[in-house]
Amino acid sequence: MLCSSTNVTTLLSKRTKIQTLSSIPLHLCTMSLISHAFAGNPIRSRTPKQTDPFSPQSAFQTLKTLLLGHGQVPISPYFKVLPFRKGKPLAGTTADSPADGPNWHLGWLSLRECKDFLENSEVSLSEDSLVYLGCKYEDDAVYWAIDVSDASELVSELGARQFCFVELRTLMVATDWADAKAMGELAVAGHARALIEWHKVARFCGFCGGKTIPMEAGRRKQCSNESCKKRIYPRVDPVVIMLVIDKENDRVLLSRQSRFVPRMWSCLAGFIEPGESLEEAVRRETWEETGIEVGEVKYHSSQPWPVGPSSMPCQLMVGFYAYAKSLEIDVDKEELEDAQWHTREDVKKALTFAEYKKAQKTTVTKVDQMCKGVEKGQNLSADYTVESGELATMFIPGPFAIAHHLISSWANQVDDNGNGALMKQAGNSFSSL
Ligand SMILES: [Zn+2]
Repeated sequence: MLCSSTNVTTLLSKRTKIQTLSSIPLHLCTMSLISHAFAGNPIRSRTPKQTDPFSPQSAFQTLKTLLLGHGQVPISPYFKVLPFRKGKPLAGTTADSPADGPNWHLGWLSLRECKDFLENSEVSLSEDSLVYLGCKYEDDAVYWAIDVSDASELVSELGARQFCFVELRTLMVATDWADAKAMGELAVAGHARALIEWHKVARFCGFCGGKTIPMEAGRRKQCSNESCKKRIYPRVDPVVIMLVIDKENDRVLLSRQSRFVPRMWSCLAGFIEPGESLEEAVRRETWEETGIEVGEVKYHSSQPWPVGPSSMPCQLMVGFYAYAKSLEIDVDKEELEDAQWHTREDVKKALTFAEYKKAQKTTVTKVDQMCKGVEKGQNLSADYTVESGELATMFIPGPFAIAHHLISSWANQVDDNGNGALMKQAGNSFSSL
């Protein structure tokens, strides 16, 4: 489990280690998280200097020569390439022991494997398809993502390795949130997907309409028009997500959207408008959607969300506790299906009966079957409902979502007035990551 420091040190290299669990009070280990899903990426801690062989520029030159030309594979650094097809990363499964069941992992290819794979699948590779992800000095490795969406039958080329392309959302649900290594893999996949998807939506310059070209090994773009040359950076869409708290009556406001699975309730959320502070966005969104007036706003933690709408390569969920000044609910039916106050007891019950672990195990087993060709082509998203649990009259999103942690850290806090020592520490342990 995550509370063992060995897992943490395996995941975090010397360069990336920010905090070990030994610095987190023991009682917080019940939360079983050192960072949110998609955060805590172990290979993007620092950008190497330009002259360094690990740097995006020099590594890119080498990679281009090797993949697109006929150069020899150098001894160092190692190149590890993660193919993506239509937004889905290549993944595989392994089982350490039959009792534990399978675990998923990313389908990293060596340069040789990648080259063979591309030649066999007749993908026409261009510089635009390659994106630098980061490096690990201690492993002497540089990591890349490659977009092979043009390819049709790639899975068969990798049949011997039992890899397949899996939806990132499916991998997210399949990730054991107490397994630091798996959480690291998910963060890498999320970063890679965000960059690859951004490349697809930023093909032309917004100033002059000229074609954009990738720069710095795909980490930014630039307009190819000589008289324009605008620099374009990867897009992040910030969203406020808030748990509205009624301190006096010890309740929280949860809402349902029509797209939610039955019985699921969650936090309110909304996009930040230009010229607006985070706190203002929290107050405005809460007022617009539920008619509740918010006073004090407290930051909790944030989460990258690269699995949102396809037009947004990566959202950033910024989580808050928002303290209600008024209590009468007036739901905006265009935005929400319903919004209601829920007591601490009801929320705790929902958390107790939800079968998050079962949903995770079921999903990873499906990924395993997909990779072995048993469930080829099946859509797994329908299985998310298993987390509802038969006994729960309501449930909240799984631990892969920041909403879960906003709600569960409130439900489990010691002090009823929202200023409990436990909650404060929990908030700090998140925000320091
Ligand atoms: Zn331009």
